[in-house]
Amino acid sequence: DPDPTLRPDPMPEDRDRALRPQMLDDFIGQAEARANLRVFIQSARERGEAMDHTLFHGPPGLGKTTLAQIMARELGVGFRMTSGPVLAKAGDLAAILTNLERNDVLFIDEIHRMNAAVEEVLYPAMEDFELDLVIGEGPAARTVRIELQPFTLVGATTRLGLLTTPLRDRFGIPTRLNFYEIHELETIVAGNARKLGVEIRGDGALEIARRARGTPRIAGRLLRRVVDFAVVEGGGIVTQELADRSLTRLGVDALGLDGADRRYLKLIAENYAGGPVGIETLSAALSESRDALEEVVEPYLLQQGLIQRTPRGRMLAQKAWTHLGMAVPKTPGQ
Ligand code: ADP
Repeated sequence: DPDPTLRPDPMPEDRDRALRPQMLDDFIGQAEARANLRVFIQSARERGEAMDHTLFHGPPGLGKTTLAQIMARELGVGFRMTSGPVLAKAGDLAAILTNLERNDVLFIDEIHRMNAAVEEVLYPAMEDFELDLVIGEGPAARTVRIELQPFTLVGATTRLGLLTTPLRDRFGIPTRLNFYEIHELETIVAGNARKLGVEIRGDGALEIARRARGTPRIAGRLLRRVVDFAVVEGGGIVTQELADRSLTRLGVDALGLDGADRRYLKLIAENYAGGPVGIETLSAALSESRDALEEVVEPYLLQQGLIQRTPRGRMLAQKAWTHLGMAVPKTPGQ
């Protein structure tokens, strides 16, 4: 089975706090998002107001949480963090909102997984910095309006399409994060190695960057794994050759695909002659949730041009056949 530490999802044992960039200037890549945020942050600071509500969307591990923390630091305000699934009741969110201080950043991760009752509380809070609380029950119930301090909501989601329209419309600054370029990841890996006090020679950082699935979180994890090999087998020094050998042993191939990615591609190649095949069928055959396939596996395969999404299902592209070392099957009539 695929090694879960090679996936982009956050893991409890991530010790990357020390590696997180602290300010906008330390944040590598996402040039467009960064340039826009810089303007909005400066403007909010000069006006002394809360920055507009901001929504980050894109695959896991690209820096949504990091940017939210950076925003708070650059704005010079407090940072509070929660997530959609954790907010079970309207009261949970109300408690957080009433405790915010002026212009604070409230970060809600996985905001697409918030339930409807909680979302209702968020609308007037986002729009007018007001909270309508129902006190009591039955005929004695009444609504009281509570004024909130102005605040900036920063939402993060891997699934923009699952956000309700009213919620989506309340974000003044929707920002898409994209997979990183290899040279950007190389800079990130080199910087992380420096922070960890690890020596990297030649193209060692480049080799890790190439195989990090466009994702800083994975780059950080691969670096740690490679460092383990370097300590035990390489005199503590990361070279390209050592990185290549270690990553191959971890099942990460030349494109950065891991076992789960290859299983997905091979299934379509071997069982469905390259597709098209529906996502539900793939999910059942791979025993992976549809969400995991759509959020984690497919975005990178699509970005790499290995698969295509068609109305009739997923299809392998030529590049996938080449990568798998297989010939495109000839179908009758072609
Ligand atoms: P997300 O919230 O999108 O899942 P995070 O913000 O938690 O992603 O980032 C995942 C990891 O990658 C963190 O350890 C963070 O330090 C690192 N990271 C993300 N973006 C960058 C970047 N641009 N430069 C350096 N490290 C980054």
